Amino acid sequence: MRASSLALALLAIAIAPGCGPSGTGEPPGPDEHGSTPASEATAEANARFAESFPVEGNEDFDEARRGLVASDPEMSVRTPDGGSFSQSVFAFVEGDSPKSVNPSLWRQAKLNGNHGLFQVADGIYQVRGYDVSNMSWIRGRTGWIVVDPLTSVESAEAAAALARKHLDPAPVVAVIFTHSHIDHFGGVRAVLPNGSPEGVRIIAPRRFVEEVASENVLAGVAMGRRAIYQFGRDLPIGPRGYVDSGLGKQPRVYTTSLATPTDLIDHTPQEMSIDGVPFVFQYTPESEAPAELTFYLPEQKAYCGAEIVNRTMHNLYTLRGAKVRDALRWSGYIDDAIRRFPDVEIVFTSHNWPTFGHDRSIDFLKGQRDTYRFLHDQTLRLANQGATPREIAEQLELPPSLARHAANRGYYGSVRHNAKAIYQFYFGWYDANPANLDPLPPVDLGRKWVDAVGGPDAAKQKAKAAMDSGEYRWAATLLDHLVFTDPDDDEARELLATTYDQLGYQAENGVWRSVYLTGASELRHGVPERGDLGKRFAGELLAQIPLDLFFAAMATRIDGAKAAAGEPRSFNFVFSDVGETHVLELENGVLHHRRGDPMPNADATVRVTRALFQKLGTGEAGIRDLVFSDELEVEGSRMALLSFFGLLDPVDEGFAIVTP
Ligand SMILES: [Zn+2]
Repeated sequence: MRASSLALALLAIAIAPGCGPSGTGEPPGPDEHGSTPASEATAEANARFAESFPVEGNEDFDEARRGLVASDPEMSVRTPDGGSFSQSVFAFVEGDSPKSVNPSLWRQAKLNGNHGLFQVADGIYQVRGYDVSNMSWIRGRTGWIVVDPLTSVESAEAAAALARKHLDPAPVVAVIFTHSHIDHFGGVRAVLPNGSPEGVRIIAPRRFVEEVASENVLAGVAMGRRAIYQFGRDLPIGPRGYVDSGLGKQPRVYTTSLATPTDLIDHTPQEMSIDGVPFVFQYTPESEAPAELTFYLPEQKAYCGAEIVNRTMHNLYTLRGAKVRDALRWSGYIDDAIRRFPDVEIVFTSHNWPTFGHDRSIDFLKGQRDTYRFLHDQTLRLANQGATPREIAEQLELPPSLARHAANRGYYGSVRHNAKAIYQFYFGWYDANPANLDPLPPVDLGRKWVDAVGGPDAAKQKAKAAMDSGEYRWAATLLDHLVFTDPDDDEARELLATTYDQLGYQAENGVWRSVYLTGASELRHGVPERGDLGKRFAGELLAQIPLDLFFAAMATRIDGAKAAAGEPRSFNFVFSDVGETHVLELENGVLHHRRGDPMPNADATVRVTRALFQKLGTGEAGIRDLVFSDELEVEGSRMALLSFFGLLDPVDEGFAIVTP
């Protein structure tokens, strides 16, 4: 918490002239978190949005509630610290939208707020609203087949308890992981009989474990930090804070688990009987996730579209950071599903709510298919005319025939950031303008900018004028330069935070809202403590990850310049418990690793268990203590080993984003 937050709160009142309350019960000035009310410009922008909003009818609301079996108003999820989190904190999302929330996002948040156990079709159920994702239960001949057991053991436990209470008590005999994102497998332990995968079929797409590992380990630290922005983890929940992700309420990132697949899906169509139920799998890699599947249940004529179709436009690029996705392949898989399963009567998905009836299902699938294809083709059309990413994003709009279906609108992905993703997929980050080839980095650029506009006071005047006229995008650019020039300028920080508040309040996209509001919060209060979340999050995953990848991750933590200045080193790591030996060679600041016979002249040979090594790698154990303890059997130089571990950068899970 920054010491001057009271002063900032007072300042915020002074710079938000003419602002009334932003909704029923909303304070006229900053609230207890410092969040400012919706400005006149924001209230007007949201009112204009409501007037021109093209979506009609109540079918979406009917579908989101259809088949409700039971709903627990408390919906409480236990937290690892012994407390609990009640998803019912989202109950404030009802009635008309407050001025501080985009009306279209408000509508989506209401739809995602329907929670409980729902019957989708004969023998198909879904628990929705306990996490950002859904857990589906399909009745087999002897037991239950669970699809996508949520993000964490705690949320999956709560969701499974609801299902258990109202469904017949047969055991779980199979689990399907539709793809490699954590909100679809992290809670698996909670649904396995006695927490053990023994005797349970685990079905996943080919390369599932490899992709889980690569996405969450190699770039995991930065992605985790950025995901806090994407999902608004540290935002208060309320009309000036977190409302919805667009894709679902909010992930519950607590204790995660994983189970190794017994059956892999690697082609289309792949027919399989699971506990007597016929499944037709569609293999859809490199779409929404690098490893993904969908399936069709011919008996119910129900298509589970996993996450390649959703009741929102999805991300071709996610703002937490991930490899850009292939719009053409993604759209192609949906087209393939339309042709392959022409009798479809129901589409159910791993997020949001199902679509019922043949015509509505086909309409929905076509809309999703054409949304990604339209963005793809039109981005390239404009790029081939010489337009650059920001120019394309500024002019591209979905045609009315797509935009009038809420499912195609940008609640999670957006036209603007997806268009830039498509550009990046084909052309990379460079827009071909030489001025953008080697521009100054943020602090240097900020100083020169502020100087060029006549100094900090002049820059602030211009920024305030921009804010007064509702030009928040321009104000953000000016103020960002100011904050990077002088991060201790409290007035500049609060002006930028207020600007981010307003950009967040106007965003139709749930992720944009979270990103802006998290930026505002960190400008006001600094970066919150992350605690041991990272370790708990990664703990069980790390145990499943191939050692090879572990060393690859270690190589990305080597301080290259420091290592290059030292002697070349080599080490043998002998893992007696898993029967693997890995050889490490460090030279030119680069760490190479390979599995193979130990090197005879290595600086040291270390005999270690996997569990202990994991502690070393994550910094959980004191390295110096460990290197000199009996737990580690070392032949050769313990000093060389210690200096090697000293080359690994500490992991900073709370790096600055909105300040230098
Ligand atoms: Zn998901």
